[in-house]
Amino acid sequence: MPRASELTAVVRGCGPTGALAALALAEAGWGLITLQDPSPRQALLRRHRAYAFTHSSRRLLLNLQLWQALSPRLEPFEQLQLADLGADPGSTAAAVPFTTADLSRRSSDPAVGWIGQHQDVMAVLLAAIDQHPRIRLELGATPAALEPGAVDNGSIDLVVAADGPESPTRQALGIRQWQWTYQQRCLTAQIRLRGAGAQQAWELFRPEGPMALLPLGGQQVQVVWSAGAARCRQLEGIGSDAFLDRLAGALPDRFQPDALAVPPQTFAVGLALARRLQAGNTVLVGESAHRCHPVGGQGLNLCWRDVAVLHALARRVSQGRLPATALPRRYARARWVDVLLTLAATDLLVRLFSNRAALLLPLRRLALASLRQMPVLRRLSLGVMTDGPCPLPRG
Ligand SMILES: Cc1cc2nc3c(=O)[nH]c(=O)nc-3n(C[C@H](O)[C@H](O)[C@H](O)COP(=O)(O)OP(=O)(O)OC[C@H]3O[C@@H](n4cnc5c(N)ncnc54)[C@H](O)[C@@H]3O)c2cc1C
Repeated sequence: MPRASELTAVVRGCGPTGALAALALAEAGWGLITLQDPSPRQALLRRHRAYAFTHSSRRLLLNLQLWQALSPRLEPFEQLQLADLGADPGSTAAAVPFTTADLSRRSSDPAVGWIGQHQDVMAVLLAAIDQHPRIRLELGATPAALEPGAVDNGSIDLVVAADGPESPTRQALGIRQWQWTYQQRCLTAQIRLRGAGAQQAWELFRPEGPMALLPLGGQQVQVVWSAGAARCRQLEGIGSDAFLDRLAGALPDRFQPDALAVPPQTFAVGLALARRLQAGNTVLVGESAHRCHPVGGQGLNLCWRDVAVLHALARRVSQGRLPATALPRRYARARWVDVLLTLAATDLLVRLFSNRAALLLPLRRLALASLRQMPVLRRLSLGVMTDGPCPLPRG
């Protein structure tokens, strides 16, 4: 068995998942980690999006000693409000508030979740990578191993494919995926909004699709608006005043959008799952392995739970408790349940709430009323949302 200092890994893709995976392998004691991405550094930082982070992501960041650097740049929220505007149009009176009292593991940090801007998250991860003597960062060129005719000489203990939804690595390995593209698309924008309440995040279920309002500090909010493709395209091109008017029309009266800070941008949303999560010495992590609808802000947290499992297994390898050759299969086995259940739950939420079907409305009202009245149900559902549906293996 190689010593920890001799263990080598290549991580393909320096998005939020690949960057964190490289840091996780380094923290686990691996000898040399090469992190590759065809994009230059500025392109990796430039995306205008905000992520909602759950407690499973916070725990991983704490384990990797990154929480201290990142947390000052995150906006905590103390309440997550859930409202069904299909059943109660125009009103948030029947919203279900999830608060820190509904967290089952009492955390010392009084937040239900945190919102972070992509640039801030990547700046912290890249700074940690730059300082790490055992991570070699190769940006701006397609990895030679993916050039046509390239041969893998097998000298690498582990290849981590974190190269996104179109994953060239997954395709080169011939791993197919189950996939489904929603008719809904997703539009994101950053606005100044009155009426959302300090430190409150909102998930509004609307007949055309869910809409999230994520607090960014002050009155700044990221809107994640799901709607039909034609509507999203139209909203993207109508100019800021008309966009704010349409948004005001889509929101209950308590919310007043004031100004546009980052213009709307739409993206396709889909459900995808690779048919295998490993092949040979390669594991698929993040969106190269799975994608889900942004409802409930699960996507990146699910990607980072892949990293949490990789971290736990990589530690076992470096401590001599697991052969490096066994890691990919172990990883794939450990990830199925969480990934499948999270994909199924997001899909169910979208199907159940994106309509005004007369038969479903009483069921939805009953579900939300039960959540409002029964703390145990709120604790259970918030536990699944924030920790994932099943426990992760420990290192
Ligand atoms: C337009 C858009 C807006 C979004 N907005 C939000 C949002 O507001 N909130 C939210 O929570 N989620 C949002 N998402 C989803 C979120 O971005 C993903 O969940 C997240 O980026 C997944 O991270 P990842 O690192 O797995 O993949 P990615 O971020 O896609 O990273 C993959 C990386 O692999 C690199 N790569 C590609 N080919 C190769 C190769 N051959 N070799 C090596 N590297 C390669 C790419 O350059 C990229 O850097 C959005 C997605 C899109 C497309």
